[in-house]
Amino acid sequence: MLRSDIMQTYDVVSYTNEHLSDERLAIALRVHTTVRQILGDFFRSRGFIEVPPVIISPLTDPLNHPVYDPYITYYDEKYALTKSMIFHKHLLVSHFDKIFTFSPNIRIETPDKAETGRHLSEFTQIDVEARGATREQMMSLVEDLMVELVSKVKEKHADDLRKLGRKLEVPRKPFRRYQYLEAEKEYGKDFEAVLSRKEKDMFWIIDIPLQAREFYDREDPSRPGILVDMDLIYPEGFQEALSGGEREYQLDRILERIKKKGQTEEQFKWYIEFARRGLPPSAGFGIGIERLVRYICGFKRIDDVHPFPKVPGKFSL
Ligand code: AMP
Ligand code: MG
Repeated sequence: MLRSDIMQTYDVVSYTNEHLSDERLAIALRVHTTVRQILGDFFRSRGFIEVPPVIISPLTDPLNHPVYDPYITYYDEKYALTKSMIFHKHLLVSHFDKIFTFSPNIRIETPDKAETGRHLSEFTQIDVEARGATREQMMSLVEDLMVELVSKVKEKHADDLRKLGRKLEVPRKPFRRYQYLEAEKEYGKDFEAVLSRKEKDMFWIIDIPLQAREFYDREDPSRPGILVDMDLIYPEGFQEALSGGEREYQLDRILERIKKKGQTEEQFKWYIEFARRGLPPSAGFGIGIERLVRYICGFKRIDDVHPFPKVPGKFSL
């Protein structure tokens, strides 16, 4: 990894060359190629259409954790670099039943994230959304996907995985579910990491409390304060694989949730205007591709799967 003390041009070039010629990176990129193919084929074969990514927009995900927010000036307008396509997905499913996109995200994470092994400031997620879908349907779809993906990768990359000494188990359906608040009570504040180290298979954390997520995840009408959403967690300490859930779609609910977050209507004026004209109920999720490849390869650090990794706080080409 690059540190400021090796930021001489010569060092940057030698570091990059060394990284690019690392056999582990070559394996990761072969796996990456297969992963993208399987993901695309899986959703296409189930009637999802692929849409191109949005890279700049006046509208992007507010996220629920602090990141530095870069903007560009686009013909006198302020455009954000996409942190996620959550709002664009919702607008799209007003017109298309089921969509997915390989979406590059820029999230300039704080430098304390450099050592998690899970964070890059530039990554890609496959972002999926379906009109009228429930969380339950999306969870079932993800379970089918993960079983198929791990089985196929194991078969196709048996030699690569052997070289890495990686033993990968095909997950078994149905994946175990933990309720967020119960897990927190039993395993403490760090329950996700604790459970990820303890479990041998992928598992779900569901029913995340309102303050822990963004305003657009749907609040359960029968359980105020609890969202109809989910995270999928990798075992062996690899932690979060995806986040998703059902969405708020009614104008009054959206406005109330924005207010509860202490955010402004001005920030989301375009989205609110669409909601005023009517948005459909929908559900979806986003899977980080680099994290998925890291999990498959069993690498300690996510930077090892990317040719030009933007590790938070570090210099990178
Ligand atoms: P989110 O909706 O914020 O949970 O993001 C969706 C998915 O993208 C997460 O579940 C991760 O797999 C992935 N992801 C989020 N942030 C990062 C990051 N900084 N670096 C790499 N992957 C990320
Ligand atoms: Mg998440």
